[in-house]
Amino acid sequence: QYGKDELLNISVGIDRGVVTPFQLSDGRRFDYSQTQKDRLKASERRKKHYQRMMARRIKGSSNWKKAKEKARRCSRYAAYVRRDFAHKTSHAIVGNESVEIIGIEDLKIKSMTARPEPKKFEDEEFLPNGANAKAGLNKAILEKAWGLTERFIEYKAQRAGKLIIKVPAPYTSQTCSRCGCQAKTNRKSQALFRCTHCGFTQNADRNAAEVIKAKAVELFHSEGIKPKEVRRTMRLRHKPACASA
Ligand SMILES: [Zn+2]
Repeated sequence: QYGKDELLNISVGIDRGVVTPFQLSDGRRFDYSQTQKDRLKASERRKKHYQRMMARRIKGSSNWKKAKEKARRCSRYAAYVRRDFAHKTSHAIVGNESVEIIGIEDLKIKSMTARPEPKKFEDEEFLPNGANAKAGLNKAILEKAWGLTERFIEYKAQRAGKLIIKVPAPYTSQTCSRCGCQAKTNRKSQALFRCTHCGFTQNADRNAAEVIKAKAVELFHSEGIKPKEVRRTMRLRHKPACASA
């Protein structure tokens, strides 16, 4: 029923990155505002401050409890901002009426956000790693929104009868969306993609989003399922669950 070109017309690919949290193959991009970014970072720093304070105080004491409550308040603001961003982003992606298939990388976010091993020096002292800590903080904030937005996209897509296809993540950033050539040297910098084979040049995130879209269509096409069929089976499978809830 659907040819590959038609499938490409009703599909969108999503690339998640550290600079741009969400870049779509159709050119749209979603990011926190600068104010939100600053406030997220500030609240994360304040939370760490109160957590250190807790560590110095006697566990369970009234002063310890005061510090704990303050740390909790910092987390609450950050959670609210991320949630708001995740809802707006997922709504904009799923709400696009010309899109029936959404391709996204299959990232193992839980293991990615796992706390890195602290650098130990002679088993006693810790080496300072301020730059790493700062980069890690920014990344951790983004990864939380990646996971949350993905969950929101999933349930909103299900509700709208749209299909999500998770594609394998490796090499999406090194592959050319025009000729399919894959090489490490294709990625010139964080921002720039230039294919060493065909010379195709594009914003690196946008290229990756297009590769993800093509991979999703490829997977869908090779499975031999038609969008209409999928919609019906998805509705049937999930209706009883909704009715009982
Ligand atoms: Zn190429």
